[in-house]
Parts: sequence; structure tokens; C-alpha cells
Amino acid sequence: MLKTDIKSLTIEELKTQLQEMGEKPFRATQIYAWLHEKQAESFAQMSNLSMALRQRLEERYALVSLEAVRMQESATDKTQKYLFRLADGNLIESVRMCYHHGNSVCISSQAGCRMGCRFCASTLDGLARNLTPSEMLEQVYAITRHTGQRVSHVVVMGTGEPLDNYDSLLRFLLLLTGEGGLHISQRNVTVSTCGIAPNICRLARERLQITLALSLHAVTDQKRRTLMPIAAKYPLEEVLAACEYYQEETGRRVTLEYSLIEGVNDRDEDAAGLAAIAGKAGFHVNLISLNPVSERGFVPPGRARVEAFQNKLEKNRINVTIRREMGRDIDGACGQLRYGHIKEKKQEA
Ligand code: SAH
Repeated sequence: MLKTDIKSLTIEELKTQLQEMGEKPFRATQIYAWLHEKQAESFAQMSNLSMALRQRLEERYALVSLEAVRMQESATDKTQKYLFRLADGNLIESVRMCYHHGNSVCISSQAGCRMGCRFCASTLDGLARNLTPSEMLEQVYAITRHTGQRVSHVVVMGTGEPLDNYDSLLRFLLLLTGEGGLHISQRNVTVSTCGIAPNICRLARERLQITLALSLHAVTDQKRRTLMPIAAKYPLEEVLAACEYYQEETGRRVTLEYSLIEGVNDRDEDAAGLAAIAGKAGFHVNLISLNPVSERGFVPPGRARVEAFQNKLEKNRINVTIRREMGRDIDGACGQLRYGHIKEKKQEA
């Protein structure tokens, strides 16, 4: 019998299944608390359940866990990057950042990615597979266990395109922010997408209070297509309309992410175009200086150019922040740690 992934079940589903096993519903609440509040790593730990019940759970259910392969800590800002191995051998990475407002974890939503963005390391080897809700949760849980500190913010900005794994993402979001688990405020959760317009609309209709971030990176379709293949499928007009719809449905301001690449998207006219897009809909802008990936050939502009770009947006009264560069000394760019490890293994073979 194929075991059910117990950590991906909602409390209601767990109640139904336990009832079918002839158990009382409160047992489901106890088990759910072990899984999601205490983040138990085995059924044996569940000390308020009878041995017989623990045995039955063991037979029926799989407890997903991640094996930490490597952890790197930045010498400059205490950012920690984790490389985890999944049960089937696939690798994923997660990052923990310490801010004054708490601990933030950046998680992966897929092993690899099939979106093909030209500047990104995560997509170099394509998509291996989608992550399950439990594998997304377990990144947060494993880091909580390892550091002994509560995680207050979660960003789905690691490897993978979250809206290309929609059902698992949604389940993950509900388990992460629901009662009886970590109960992280939806307002402290951000999902970043390259712009799968229909799924942005779908997410809007879920009426969650999470922040949506759109990876824009270019202000014309022509240029965006040269950087992001997905732009050929969903043109700017459609993606931006979906983001406006998200704002209308949820009342949450959308963030535009814009990674500055020297000579590609950092000119005055790019800033003007970005200001026009953000100004019209009231989007927030987050500027990121490109994290150079050796396989990719792009370079970031100098600090002065980044600041000039920011000034230009501010002059147009756009709400803009520059993302603090964290963990650059530890392969901070998306997918670099994972890709580096895969490359090493290939060379050894
Ligand atoms: N697939 C999602 C989330 C993963 S990437 C998305 O596309 O939004 C998180 C952010 O980092 C995205 O804005 C992505 O475009 C950006 N990014 C990827 N590689 C980068 C690099 N080398 N330098 C700067 N930003 C990068």
C-alpha cells in the first residue's frame, strides 16, 4: 500500500481519515499539533497517543522529512543557506535571513524550474519535479528545528515557479498560515511569480492576504521576451491586468520585482517606463541588483547607477525599495547552491 503523505493533509482531512480508522476526532487535533506545531520527526515522538495508534499511523502514513546536505552561513550578515535532499534524491535549497522584524525563510516550490529565465541559475537544468505541500512546509520546519528560533516571515522566492505548482502551493499556504500549525500571518507571506497570468487571477479569487510579487525585469514585451520566455505566452498587458485584479480582490498591494542588469534594463527610459507602470496601478517596486551567475554572462550595474535608477522612480513618487544584498558570499542567487552541487556531482561521475 502506498503511504499517504500525512503532513500535506488539512486538519479536516485528517479528522475524516481518523474517523474512518475508528478513532475519535480529537486524535486528529493531537496529531496535527505534533506535525505542524511541534514539528515532530517521527510517530514515536507522539507521546500522548497509544502505542497501538502510533503503530497504525506508521503503517498508513509517510512522514516527509528533508536531509540537510550542506549549510552555509554568510560571514557578513548571518544569512544561512541550506541544501536539502528529498526522499527521492532530488536537491532543493532554502535560505534563512535575519531581519530586525524577525526571521524570514525563502523556500523553493519546485526541484528545478522550467521557466527558462535567462539570468537565473535555478532553471539551468530544467524542472525535475514539483514539490509537495509537506516538502515546502518541511523547509520552514527543518530550519526552525535547526536554529531553535521562530520563523515569522516566509517568501516563496527560491527555486521554482510557485504558480506552476498551483494546487500544492495553495495547500502549503493554508497549512502554513492556518490555525493549529505555525499560524504565520498571511500578511507575512510573499509569493513571487514570473507572471502566469491565469493563475494570478485564480490566486486573487482565493482571497488570501498574502503579498504577490511579480518579476517584471523589463517594461516592454520585446525586451521582456528576451529575458523571460514566459513573456511570449502572457504579454505585459495581460500580466499587469491580472496584478491589478489581484489588488482589487485582496486589497493587497502588489510588488514589482526588477533585477537591474547593466546595459539591458537600467537606462533612463527603463526607469521612466517602470514608473509609469507602477504609478498607474499603485504597485510597489523592489529593485534588486543582479546577482551574477557565471553561466549567464549578465552583470549588475554599479551602485551609483542603481541609486540613480531608484531616484528616478522616487521623483515620480513611486514607492521603491532596494533589496538588501544578503548572502552574496554564499551563493545567494536563486539556484546557485543547488546547481553548484549538481555540477560537482556530474564532474565526479
Ligand atoms: N519563479 C518565481 C520565484 C523565484 S525567483 C519568479 O520568477 O518570481 C525570485 C526572484 O529572483 C525573481 O524576481 C527572479 O526573477 C529573481 N532572480 C533570479 N535570478 C536572479 C539573479 N541571478 N539575480 C537577481 N535576481 C534574480
